[in-house]
Amino acid sequence: ESNFTLNYHHPMLFEKIVQYYDTLTERPVLPSISPGYLKPLLPPGPPSEGEPWPQIQADIEKLIQPGLTHWQHPKYMAFFPANASYPGIIGEMYSSTFTAAAFNWICSPAITELETIVLDWIAKMIALPECFLSDSPGGGGGIIQGTASEVIVTAVVAARERMVRKLLTSSGFDPTSHETEEALDLAATIRGKLVALGGEHAHSSTQKAAIIAGTRFRTVPAPQSSNFAVTASALRSTIEACKAKGLEPYYFTATLGSTATCAVDDLEGIAAVARDYPDIWIHVDAAYAGSALICDEYQHLTPPMQHFASFNFNLHKWLLVNFDCSAFYVQCRKDLTDTFSITPAYLRNSYTESGLVTDYRDWQIPLGRRFRSLKVWFVLRTYGVEGLKRFIRGGIKLGEYFNGLLDSRKDLFTVVTPAAFALTTFQVKPESSSTSEEEKKKEEANRLTKAAFEIVDKKQEFFLTSTVVNGVYIIRLVSANERAEEKYVKQVFEALVAAAEEKERR
Ligand code: PLP
Repeated sequence: ESNFTLNYHHPMLFEKIVQYYDTLTERPVLPSISPGYLKPLLPPGPPSEGEPWPQIQADIEKLIQPGLTHWQHPKYMAFFPANASYPGIIGEMYSSTFTAAAFNWICSPAITELETIVLDWIAKMIALPECFLSDSPGGGGGIIQGTASEVIVTAVVAARERMVRKLLTSSGFDPTSHETEEALDLAATIRGKLVALGGEHAHSSTQKAAIIAGTRFRTVPAPQSSNFAVTASALRSTIEACKAKGLEPYYFTATLGSTATCAVDDLEGIAAVARDYPDIWIHVDAAYAGSALICDEYQHLTPPMQHFASFNFNLHKWLLVNFDCSAFYVQCRKDLTDTFSITPAYLRNSYTESGLVTDYRDWQIPLGRRFRSLKVWFVLRTYGVEGLKRFIRGGIKLGEYFNGLLDSRKDLFTVVTPAAFALTTFQVKPESSSTSEEEKKKEEANRLTKAAFEIVDKKQEFFLTSTVVNGVYIIRLVSANERAEEKYVKQVFEALVAAAEEKERR
């Protein structure tokens, strides 16, 4: 029993949400509270009787908002964005309204069917090869997962079991009935030799997935000389080095838009490697940059994907679909269902048995699933493909504008990786007379860049991230936020110039 009356409060709730966005730029992007700020402000336990909603709502502004980092703020230029939109918010609200743990088709046919349809729309929008469509002859298709990390764990575990099944078969076992002690022992031995691979700058989720899958993990080098991208020869050498040690590479994450610099691995070269090692599951992680594939000028990147087992990108990063929403495509759904489909009697139903429906529970790790396709559908319909392209291109243009500003001060800054997918990375330049030794110069550039980053970071007016790639300390600036504008990019540039010029850094 609660005293919540929806009819009365509903309009007020919407007003508050709109008001939040309307006043966003008046707030600082970062909170100015200290760790542990919230506990002394809350009672030690929940109230024994329900409170009226206005009292709860007042605490959002009083207690919660002061502790928020505003990811939708135009001065948020850190990590990658998690762009929200009103159609996305409304999609989330309807999804909550219809709450269902829609694991089987019969659990809510619209939830499964809309997901299949919008994922086909998106595959076509980003020019994914046809083998990833739900009606492809090879049985491909897409599914929405929460995050790229969940996708990658799912792909890694499916890849591991696919390799186990394959090696059991080649040893004379029937992989569909390999539950004999002998087969189980051999499967355990095989798993002990398996190694997952990821580029040096692949997101850490690949290593995490290998830990979860209980297999080894090796990185494929991606040095600055190859723009931090994995080349086909680096991948080939790592595979061969593993094999020489008696290990079995079974999985590789290729990255389209790495987290640190938005590097794109050599997908065409890697496609040739895939043809030579067809048993290795190659997954393309395009978590952030994948959204740019809706623009024709990026679609030359997709044809090599026909040689890869799977692909993902996060609509919740750059395609205006509220967190969380990662689209995961496979060429062969059977690779997933052979691993994840376990059907106790209580999950059986005539629709599943008819073979006419998709039960997405068999494609993923959890059983229950949210109605995420609704917010995707709302976003696609309200913006239209052209509207989304304009948004993506706007962010890319701002990235180029920022890169141009850096170039205008070559005395102060070095661009480490030029604007790519609205991300530019750069360093503060040491004075040319400081030292002639290469190594010392590198150290000095790192020290100055870190000092400038810390000055901007401490002021808290903008939220940026820094990182280290192959020993190079870089500042990253991302201009793909929905509210990003030239004036904010200019302002952050001026703040960086002031920080780089501060006397005490020298
Ligand atoms: N892959 C790449 C390339 C990323 O940049 C990120 C996060 O920024 C991830 C994976 C992890 O994303 P998620 O939070 O969806 O797991």
